[in-house]
Amino acid sequence: MKKTHRLLNRQLRKFDLDRETQLKIAPLLTLINEAYYAFDNDLYHVENILERSSRELYEANKLLQNRVETISGQLTRIAEHISEVIFEVDLKGNWSYLNQAWEKLTGVPVEKTLGNPYFRYLKDENNEPIKLIFNYDQNSGIFHQAVKCLTPLGDLKWLDITSKAVHSEEGNLEGFIGSIVDITEEKNAEMALIEAKEKAMIANKAKDEFLSTMSHEIRTPLNAVIGVSHLLIMEDPKEEQMENLKALKYSSEHLLSLVNDILDFNKIASGSLELEEADFSLDQILVGLKSIFERKAQQKNITFVVRKAPDVPDVLLGDTTRLTQILTNLVNNGIKFTKRGGVVLEVSKVLENKEYTELKFMVEDTGIGISDTKRTQIFQPFAQAETNTTRKYGGTGLGLAISKQLIEIMDSELQLESEEEVGSIFSFTLKFKKSCSLPLINGEDETTVMEELLVSLNGMHVLIVDDNRLNTMVVQKLLSKWDASYDMAENGLIALKKSTSNRYDLILMDLQMPVMNGYEASRSIRDTHNSLNKEVPIYALSASTGANIRREIADSGMDGLIHKPFNPRKLYNILLKIQKNKPVY
Ligand code: ADP
Repeated sequence: MKKTHRLLNRQLRKFDLDRETQLKIAPLLTLINEAYYAFDNDLYHVENILERSSRELYEANKLLQNRVETISGQLTRIAEHISEVIFEVDLKGNWSYLNQAWEKLTGVPVEKTLGNPYFRYLKDENNEPIKLIFNYDQNSGIFHQAVKCLTPLGDLKWLDITSKAVHSEEGNLEGFIGSIVDITEEKNAEMALIEAKEKAMIANKAKDEFLSTMSHEIRTPLNAVIGVSHLLIMEDPKEEQMENLKALKYSSEHLLSLVNDILDFNKIASGSLELEEADFSLDQILVGLKSIFERKAQQKNITFVVRKAPDVPDVLLGDTTRLTQILTNLVNNGIKFTKRGGVVLEVSKVLENKEYTELKFMVEDTGIGISDTKRTQIFQPFAQAETNTTRKYGGTGLGLAISKQLIEIMDSELQLESEEEVGSIFSFTLKFKKSCSLPLINGEDETTVMEELLVSLNGMHVLIVDDNRLNTMVVQKLLSKWDASYDMAENGLIALKKSTSNRYDLILMDLQMPVMNGYEASRSIRDTHNSLNKEVPIYALSASTGANIRREIADSGMDGLIHKPFNPRKLYNILLKIQKNKPVY
């Protein structure tokens, strides 16, 4: 048996058992003795483990402490070296921490600042304290604002201040931490940029207005030149005079298209071009193009064919002027640059759904073609494929640049496929919203057959409202030539007075006039109770190319628009139509 354990020994001594009893309970005592030794053993183990754990814990703690010290040292170093101010503000609004950037920003040492209220140092332009940190967002606890501050050194600085409310675990507000960034330079640069942009916008607007006024000014006398040359050609001139008159007519028309192109190009470049959205007839555009270009093609002994797929709808919603302008330019180029063969204008449907119809327009010619190297160049303003293009074919080099940009404004792209000496294909697709009604303004159909040109318009009585004598002279001459009679009014008010004492078959209304403009005059002629011309057709006669002009004209009760300078045929056709529909008394 093992030596009796000291504790068991002590117990036995305490009870002082006789030898006989001890022998009797010997097995039990052996078990108890074993138990004591086992307990000792366990205790030793536990103590061992405990000691090891506490040693490990101590080591870990030391490591952690070192790490924390390193990190907080690093953080302090970072905080002291970064250019942003890092701060802590207590519940009373006093600075409780600031890094060195504070001194750089304000000129006040950190030690002098700590413990003082933050708003003592953050003042607005009027030296009033800016109390803003407490205005934080209740949900996020964040305050963020760029403010213009007067620093203690008297400098005005833009400061970007961000702070966050700090709460205890129980949810009580304990203070704020945050940062201050000096954004003066960025802000000044931003302001300078805004100022420069505003200045550029003002300058651009002035340029737009100047160009618009100038072009109006140029168009008015041009109108007279074109009108008079039309008149002279109609007056059966001698053969040699005819040559000169045709040259005069061609040059003035060319000058007009140049003025229009420059104005358009400028409008697009300055972003002031607005697209019109109105119902229009695609057939009308195509018939118009056919009638104009078929003749031109015939003169060159080439063909011009217009093809429209049967499923392409006629009435569309969009900008008819701009679509016509693009197609006119592409077809005109096609015919201009083709010597043999011909030009095809094809319209087909790409897609139709509930909201819109997408159409593809393609102008194909068998002309001189465009080399790969000139492909991008020709879409640049004032650029032509060859230096002798103007001399050989005429043109300004603006048409394609304008068409390309117009198509881009309409969210599409102008595509070109071409091979030199084989031909070119210009194509684009456009989406048109579904139209629910019929075209708003009609009567602009230039394609009406002209055989009836010699029919006298005797009995037709026209009121010409225009303050420009040159313009009225052309209209007067034309009307006299067609045996129609007329009255004159220099402004809207005179026109209104005349409309209460005379009944006219047509009123030709200039838009910009002194005393009363054309819109107001038309509205009054429609509304004045004693007007004798409430239902009489009023046509605006205008040189303006404003984007919304058609809508404004329709809104003021007019029936249509004749662009100045106008083709006399157009006016004649309108009058002829009215004459045909005139009731016979
Ligand atoms: P313009 O026709 O007034 O010169 P555009 O901008 O319409 O100006 O065209 C620019 C140039 O692109 C033309 O001068 C011509 O060199 C070339 N070009 C345009 N269309 C065609 C075409 N269908 N075939 C060959 N060259 C063309």
